[in-house]
Amino acid sequence: MDDRTCAACDCELETDIITVTLGGRAVEVCCQDCALLLGEAQAAIAGSEA
Ligand SMILES: [Zn+2]
Repeated sequence: MDDRTCAACDCELETDIITVTLGGRAVEVCCQDCALLLGEAQAAIAGSEA
């Protein structure tokens, strides 16, 4: 089985997993804060997306 770690802070995922879709890829994060961080990072990289 693969390791399940937060895509933002790299901690181990436990019960409160949030799945966010970034550029067509589904990634899992440990909390809402990390989801927001990833969203902001993606927005900064993509730029063109509203
Ligand atoms: Zn996290």
